[in-house]
Amino acid sequence: MSHSTESNAPVYRIRVAVPVRLYDFFDYQLSAEHYAQAEVGARVTVSFGRQQLVAVIVEKLPPDAPIDPQFKLKMITELLDDRAILHPSIMSLLRWAAQYYLFPIGEVMHAALPTLLRQAKPYNLLARTWKLLNVHAEDQLKRSVKQQEAYKVLKLHPQGTQETILNLASVETNTLKALEKKGIAHCVLEAKDFTPTPVQLAQMPLTANEEQKKAIQSILKAQKKYQGFLLDGLTGSGKTEVYLQVMQKVLEQGKQVLVLVPEIGLTPQTIHRFQSRFHCQISMLHSGLNDTKRLQAWQYAETGKAAIILGTRSAIFTPIPQLGLIILDEEHDLSFKQQEGFRYHARDVALYRAHLENCPIILGSATPSIESYQLVHQQKLTRLELNQRAGSAVMPKMHLIDLKIARKQHGISEQLITEIKKCLEKKEQVLIFLNRRGYAPVLICESCAWQANCPHCDAHFTVHMKPYMHLHCHHCGTINRIPDACPQCDQSNLKPIGMGTAKVEESLQEIFPDFPVLRVDRDSTSRVGSWQKIYDQIQTSEPVILLGTQMLAKGHHFPYVTLVAILDIDGGLLSVDFRAPERTAQLIIQVSGRSGRGEKKGDVYLQTLRPDHPMLMLLLHHDYRAFAKQTLTDRQTALLPPCRYAILLRCESRSQQENQHFLSEMANLLRQQSEPDLIDIWGPIPAPMERKAGRFQAHLVLLSTDRAKLHFYVRSWWQQVLHSKTAYMKISIDVDPQELN
Ligand code: ADP
Ligand code: ZN
Ligand code: ZN
Repeated sequence: MSHSTESNAPVYRIRVAVPVRLYDFFDYQLSAEHYAQAEVGARVTVSFGRQQLVAVIVEKLPPDAPIDPQFKLKMITELLDDRAILHPSIMSLLRWAAQYYLFPIGEVMHAALPTLLRQAKPYNLLARTWKLLNVHAEDQLKRSVKQQEAYKVLKLHPQGTQETILNLASVETNTLKALEKKGIAHCVLEAKDFTPTPVQLAQMPLTANEEQKKAIQSILKAQKKYQGFLLDGLTGSGKTEVYLQVMQKVLEQGKQVLVLVPEIGLTPQTIHRFQSRFHCQISMLHSGLNDTKRLQAWQYAETGKAAIILGTRSAIFTPIPQLGLIILDEEHDLSFKQQEGFRYHARDVALYRAHLENCPIILGSATPSIESYQLVHQQKLTRLELNQRAGSAVMPKMHLIDLKIARKQHGISEQLITEIKKCLEKKEQVLIFLNRRGYAPVLICESCAWQANCPHCDAHFTVHMKPYMHLHCHHCGTINRIPDACPQCDQSNLKPIGMGTAKVEESLQEIFPDFPVLRVDRDSTSRVGSWQKIYDQIQTSEPVILLGTQMLAKGHHFPYVTLVAILDIDGGLLSVDFRAPERTAQLIIQVSGRSGRGEKKGDVYLQTLRPDHPMLMLLLHHDYRAFAKQTLTDRQTALLPPCRYAILLRCESRSQQENQHFLSEMANLLRQQSEPDLIDIWGPIPAPMERKAGRFQAHLVLLSTDRAKLHFYVRSWWQQVLHSKTAYMKISIDVDPQELN
């Protein structure tokens, strides 16, 4: 619908971000009345092409701004909110993020909204509340026990009760509706109560040790202004206690605190520690919530009711009106980086947000990223250190086992088997780490050396035994039958080679038939609640063998584990990715950190073919910092990130020639448009896995020491790249990439 405008009459217009893969804003017209109500950050529905879309207002254009009378703007369809639900500071954050990560602004704003608000529904601050109309209705309810129960509950609260609360008390909405039909109860819409409740301490803080005190005081000095801290503390050194004590002071001032963690489902005890320290409203935002729960948590944050907002990566975009502190725990964790679509890094967004909101931010880790050390080096972060394990625990002792000379059973050295046995007999727990799920990483023919490879990827099939024997490609998801005979030589000599967690589980069960082996990986914990069950079993002090992947490395507190073994770290030592040593070192330290966290001393065993590797020498003495310092120097010498800023252009098409041709052309274009020697262009290079799911992958890496200029030139170039690509190509851009694949 378009309206013709008379030349002198004011025209009311807004500029909106529409959730489409376009980099522009769009203007719409609206009535004077709607214009008066409209706020930047509120939602509208607009017709866009043939669709009705939910857009966000980014600007109210002045009514007297010049307008071309030939150019008729469409009217908005509906104004959905009467106020900004994306607060001004979030709008600035999102606009910055869209610019910085070269991603369409409309999609960025869409991603920041909870799913239910991406739909054209009003954002309801009202709750369905049930009240009794007739308080002498007992006689009418004799036939239904459910209705009698509901009636009793309602009678206890004459002022009315919210439907969600009644549902929690097992009163079903249908039962309430039945009462309504009989004229006994009715439902009204009442404003929800969003007044923040004062935060109370539920538990006394621990007495901080000297290092903790120093850290707490430094951070508290920075209240009400921006300052970034890197809390660099050994595993088990009491970082969480530092967070809790700083939070306490911030919460006492009526401010809200945002805590970001890598994966909520995997860290129940962290959540528990927050809950048991403070009596207050905690909003949890993570992928395990259904849409309604998520909206509710978001609403509590956005209205200021929740004092603590605890979430994973995307929670960084939650509006929080009284934000007083941001904490990012396990800051080195890769799950803070979104690896597809809107590829942002929650750590960097968090640093920018703390700037915008003028509040302190704490990045905490036992194995900080090299990026964060670089920020310390540039004096953009203040480093605080915790060098001792808190309480009575001491650091575990590290041992290397040389696989070249060791005698083995099923890939596990006899020395390690003896130690595991001793540990279990002392009634202590063992944790065995292997970062490879499935049964075996390769199936080969022992007669002709044929290997079972995925037909669509440059990768081996992984052998799985359960729930039935099959071959699975972990890169594209293809599943195949295991052939009866070799497709190449027809012999029946096919054998799984190497070990995955499922196979090690089998071997361990065979070696230690009297002890439970608990496997924790994506296959064994895919069912809801299964990890919780295993977790509960670990928290009893029974001797068990815990076996798992990456999932076990993250921040857990297993008080009865005293022996940790890493079966194979050589993959990480040999990888071509320049970040592989950093990731391997982090993994070793994090996994080792699970040992000896209780009263008993712990041991760590690393099996390797490279016992003389310099990195292992440093880690043997828990010296992650020396390793990190060395790594930062190496990156400086090699001019690698974070010592230069990087942007990665990925290209995927039907053939490697197509990629090469296109990327060379684009590289030339960028060379012509930028300044000489400003941007170093690597490539086109085929991706480490050239073929994936039947498509060919290649990329260009752009590096520069001048971030502002790099972004300036790449921004306009990226638009040209988008226009030049062919229909068969998929391209994407990754700013500050974490993986070069
Ligand atoms: P991190 O987060 O650095 O891994 P935690 O905060 O989990 O370390 O602390 C490890 C253990 O030490 C926990 O059981 C915690 O209760 C305990 N702890 C922390 N600080 C102190 C302290 N000041 N006094 C006594 N025990 C402490
Ligand atoms: Zn064969
Ligand atoms: Zn595949």
